[in-house]
Amino acid sequence: MKIHEYQAKELLGAYGAPVPTGEIATTPAETKEAAAKYDTCVIKAQVHSGGRGKAGGVKLAHSPEEAEEIAQKMIGMTLVTHQTGPQGKVVSKVLVTEAVEVEKEFYLSITGDNERAGVVIVASADGGTEIEETAKTAPEKIVQVPVSVITGYRAFHGEQVAEIFGLEGALKKELIALLSSMYRLYVEKDCSLVEINPLVLTREGHLLCLDAKVNFDDNALYRHPELAELRDVAEEDPKEYRASQFDLNYISLDGNIGCLVNGAGLAMATMDIIQKFGGQPANFLDVGGSATKERVKAAFEILLSDPNVKAIFINIFGGIMKCDVIAEGLVAAASEMGIKVPLVVRLEGTNVDKGKEIIKNSDVAIISAEDMADGARKAVEAAKGVA
Ligand code: GDP
Ligand code: MN
Repeated sequence: MKIHEYQAKELLGAYGAPVPTGEIATTPAETKEAAAKYDTCVIKAQVHSGGRGKAGGVKLAHSPEEAEEIAQKMIGMTLVTHQTGPQGKVVSKVLVTEAVEVEKEFYLSITGDNERAGVVIVASADGGTEIEETAKTAPEKIVQVPVSVITGYRAFHGEQVAEIFGLEGALKKELIALLSSMYRLYVEKDCSLVEINPLVLTREGHLLCLDAKVNFDDNALYRHPELAELRDVAEEDPKEYRASQFDLNYISLDGNIGCLVNGAGLAMATMDIIQKFGGQPANFLDVGGSATKERVKAAFEILLSDPNVKAIFINIFGGIMKCDVIAEGLVAAASEMGIKVPLVVRLEGTNVDKGKEIIKNSDVAIISAEDMADGARKAVEAAKGVA
C-alpha cells in the first residue's frame, strides 16, 4: 500500500525524524489561509507518484495570493509524471509547507534486501530529482549498506552513511538518529520502503526530510488496522482495489487477453505463453486454491470491467481443488453474467473428465483447450477475431 507524502511525513515525524511543518489544503481558499503562516512556502501536489517536481507538481509561492493562484491551477489538474503513465493522476489536495533554503540534497532510503535476506540502507550524496538518471549513468554513486535483521540498525551503519554524505560532528549525530527513526518505522509498520529524497542539509545547518515516501507490505497490513485510515482508494487502480476486497491476487496490465488462473506460478507461465503466441495479457490474476463461485464471479467481473479485454483465457490446474468443482463455479458465474467475449478454458488435474463434462453440457459458449499451449493459441486467435 502506498500513502501520500504528507502522511509519510507525519509518520516519520512521529518516529522522531526532522520534517518541515505543513498543512493539507483541498481548495485554493484553504491554500491561501495555510500560506499566510509563511513568508515563502512550497505548494506540493499530493498524488501517489514521484517525479512531481519535474511535472509541475511542486511550486514555490512568495505570498498567500500567489499560493492561492498556484492552487487554482494545481487542484483538479491531471499530473502526468514519468511514474504515473500517460493517463496521469488527478490532484485533489496539496501540501502547503515551509520553503527551506537548501545547501545540499541527499538520497536516503531503507528497503528489503532479497539477496542477503535482510534490510538495506541505500544512500547517495547526489540526491534530488535526478536520482533515477544517476542510477543509470553513475550507479557507483548510489551506495548500499546492508543491515542484518537479527542485530538490527546500529550506529556504525549510520557512520558509514555519514561518510558517504561527508557529514561529521553534530550532523553525523543527526543522521545516525534519523536512520534509527527510519529503521524503527520500517520494521514496526512492516514497510517495504521508507525513502527520503531529498534529505537536505539546510542553510541553517540541519538535516531535514524535504520529501518522503513510505510503502507498506500488503501481506502484513492485517497486523496494522491503524494504517487502514491512511489508504486513499482514489489513488488506486479500481480493478486492483476490487480484487483486493475478494482476496484475489490481481495486477492490471496493458494487453487484451484476460487471464483467470489458479496459482501464481501458473499465472506467470500463462502470461508467458500468451506472449509466445503473439498475444498480450490484460492482467495477472491468481484466484488461489479456493476458487469458489463467488470469487470466480468477482474475478470475471473485474476482467470484464476492463474495456481492453477481447478474450478470456481460463487456465486451471485442479490439485487440491477439483476440476469439477471449478467447472461448476465457472459455468454458474459465466451464465449468470452473460459474458460476451470468447472464453477459452483449459482444465487439467483431479476430476478433469467430470469437469470437462460439466462444461460440455452447459449452455455457456466455451472454447475448450487440450493443453496450455492450445489454450493460449486459441485465446490469441479469439482476441484477434473480436478486435
Ligand atoms: P518529487 O519530484 O515528486 O520527488 O517531489 P519533491 O518533494 O522531491 O520535490 C522536488 C524538488 O523540489 C526537490 O528535489 C527540491 O529540489 C525542490 N523542493 C521541494 N521543496 C523545497 C523547498 O522547501 N525548498 C527548496 N529550495 N526546494 C524544494
Ligand atoms: Mn522527491
